[in-house]
Amino acid sequence: MTEKISSKKAIELEDKYGAHNYHPLPVVLSKGRAARVWDAEGKEYYDFLSAYSAVNQGHCHPHIIGALVDQAQTLTLTSRAFFNDVLGVYEKFITSFFGFDKVLPMNSGAEGVETALKLCRKWAYEKKGVPENQAKIIVCEGNFHGRTVTIVSMSTDPDARRNYGPFTPGFITIPYNDIPALEEALKDPHVAGFLVEPIQGEAGVFVPDEGYLKKASELCQANNVLFIADEVQTGIARTGKLIACEHEGVRPEILILGKALSGGVYPVSAVLADDEIMLTIKPGEHGSTFGGNPIAARVAVAALEVVRDEKLAERAEKFGKIFRDEMRSIKSEMISVVRGKGLLNAIIIKPKNGKTAWDVCIKMAELGVLAKPTHGDIIRFAPPLVISEDELHEAIGRIKEAILSFD
Ligand code: PLP
Repeated sequence: MTEKISSKKAIELEDKYGAHNYHPLPVVLSKGRAARVWDAEGKEYYDFLSAYSAVNQGHCHPHIIGALVDQAQTLTLTSRAFFNDVLGVYEKFITSFFGFDKVLPMNSGAEGVETALKLCRKWAYEKKGVPENQAKIIVCEGNFHGRTVTIVSMSTDPDARRNYGPFTPGFITIPYNDIPALEEALKDPHVAGFLVEPIQGEAGVFVPDEGYLKKASELCQANNVLFIADEVQTGIARTGKLIACEHEGVRPEILILGKALSGGVYPVSAVLADDEIMLTIKPGEHGSTFGGNPIAARVAVAALEVVRDEKLAERAEKFGKIFRDEMRSIKSEMISVVRGKGLLNAIIIKPKNGKTAWDVCIKMAELGVLAKPTHGDIIRFAPPLVISEDELHEAIGRIKEAILSFD
């Protein structure tokens, strides 16, 4: 399949032969390098979505692609029926990188979340002493943890749930960023875990009040409940720290990672926990054919090396401040809120003369910056963390021009 097709043709093919479960911007990408991507006709853009924060290390990072290609030519998949000579090296690397005893490797973010839920329930029955089938996990309104039946069972988004029931029981939903609600929910002795995004990404980069995560983690500890951080989107340097929980000095009992764990090169996710929790899962009780395969293992080590060696967390912290300051300085009635942490940011667009966030994104694309609206009126901005300061300023100039064009 080497034939190059036009953007028009690519869109027609997807429309005719693909399921209609996405509504992409009409831009057809064909090449990427660092913070930039090119469409099928060669037009250049800054990528301000980074595949929902999977491409933190930039498109086609040579160190990660080098690892991928080398391993792909050596050994790709053994399944976990046998050992391979890469997985253990990766496991040692990632556990010391994030400071946990053990890792359980999976592929997609949703599988990471599913794994964490199962692990939490196992721990509840085998360590905490919750009676069989009574374990509950507290989740937050507005959450996004993926798309499986169990995960949409804890979603509060009607689009994610409609006609997918019956749903998995065992969840208590409380408002996000609400400590009294958490305190109340924790009174139930069958609560096993509290699953939370340190910043709600899909909800529109909703940053909780300072101290929320710290207080929530303390309450969980006081009630013998596992604090489970879904850092699939916020983790791996995106918010200015290696994981977003670090902003408040919180160490989750279970940490879920995905997306940028491979630099967007391969589906790699991971669940990290200490022995007391992780070793409740025994051989045969959970797994995945591809989880921890040699390519994933090599790619993930390379991706984390890039984060460390190129100081991506520091870059995200510094550039994030510049980005928010610049956005706040735009004199437009269309911008009602600018928020975020590190290089995970969003602006809320107040529609003007019938023009919405979608129209702003189309205009930005015309000017060479790609971003996508979420929930109708919110635009998320999450460029690759390897973007240079000059590139950032150039992109900011284009974003300003796009927004001001509607005034
Ligand atoms: N958790 C969070 C916080 C996410 O943002 C996402 C995806 O956007 C997921 C889980 C699901 O990841 P995946 O799409 O790889 O299944």
